[in-house]
Amino acid sequence: MTHRILLLPGDHIGPEIIAEADRMLRALSADFGLEAELEYAHLGGCAVDAEGDPFPATTRQRAESADAILLGAVGGPQWDDRPRDQRPETGLLKIRSTLGLFANLRPAMLFPELAASSSLRPEVVAGLDILIVRELVGGIYFGQPRGLRTRDDGVREGFNTLVYGADEIARIGHAAFQAAARRGGRLCSVDKANVLESSELWREVMNDLARDYPQVELSHLYVDNAAMQLVRDPNQFDVIVTGNLFGDVLSDCAAMLTGSIGMLPSASLDAGGRGLYEPVHGSAPDIAGRGLANPLATLLSVAMMLRHSLDEGALADRVERAVASVLAAGYRTADLASDSAQAADTRTMGEAVVNALYQ
Ligand code: NAD
Repeated sequence: MTHRILLLPGDHIGPEIIAEADRMLRALSADFGLEAELEYAHLGGCAVDAEGDPFPATTRQRAESADAILLGAVGGPQWDDRPRDQRPETGLLKIRSTLGLFANLRPAMLFPELAASSSLRPEVVAGLDILIVRELVGGIYFGQPRGLRTRDDGVREGFNTLVYGADEIARIGHAAFQAAARRGGRLCSVDKANVLESSELWREVMNDLARDYPQVELSHLYVDNAAMQLVRDPNQFDVIVTGNLFGDVLSDCAAMLTGSIGMLPSASLDAGGRGLYEPVHGSAPDIAGRGLANPLATLLSVAMMLRHSLDEGALADRVERAVASVLAAGYRTADLASDSAQAADTRTMGEAVVNALYQ
């Protein structure tokens, strides 16, 4: 069966890193039996510029008929002053909610060769292998009402709503329990149940679900403590499940433990396992166009796509082994290198990984 893969390069470093994913997918098709058809579309700032909408109808149509989607990154200062419906991030939120991509899987694992690049001491991060499962289409990023208004006393205020239905919590809970059952069998649910009613319900639903998964050990942490534990002793965690806002913050924090945000892939899945795959990092306008972007998070996102949406687990393993072998061979992009004068540029790194596929 031919897999239809939609590539959305996006903005700034997005096209640079997606070019390396394209190279990898074409090599997998030419020499390793992947049957794939690649299509392209606009999302984010480039879509605003080209089509006047950060999530244009053509992109939506292609996304809905694709088997899997790979995104670079969107956003940049040139669109920051636009009205909200013309902002790149609106395109991202819309594609996630339109496709019902409620389960965001963010693995944070440390390649042994990068222990020295971590912000923590090597002995604290050695062997790090965490999965953060973040709810992606609910919570405060989507809750209504929201807006800006002027109070009766003339002072402006901004307001948002944090709301979770028990059905939304159960849906992400099941995804997290299932992931934990496939991994180390430990799930930590992160909330703020000492202050927030939405978290009180979150905790209640997680406790109810735990009865369906006797093989998984469930624990709970308040988000402030979870942040502290992540940098104190990250290896205590196996799978973490949390809401949209807490997950956004905690997963970037976990990113730094692995050496660079340029190493972290992610998957956003719907109820049927169809998904959008993207590096955790943003569009990095500060380094765009200079060959400085690390493409490995994007290539590892391709591996997640092969495994979770395309049922090509053996090819996913091959891509991950290729990434590990170029790191073992000493290749480093500037974000990972101790001596940036010696660093590989984006394309050199991408080509090295493709060459390593054949070893
Ligand atoms: P960012 O992740 O783009 O950059 C943070 C820092 O990490 C920068 O110093 C950047 O140079 C570095 N960095 C990021 N990716 C890298 C890579 N692959 N290789 C080497 N270094 C890398 O976050 P930001 O600066 O806060 O945001 C920039 C833009 O990206 C904003 O417009 C923001 O809204 C957008 N953004 C988009 C997404 C997304 O598309 N999913 C996610 C986060 C931020």
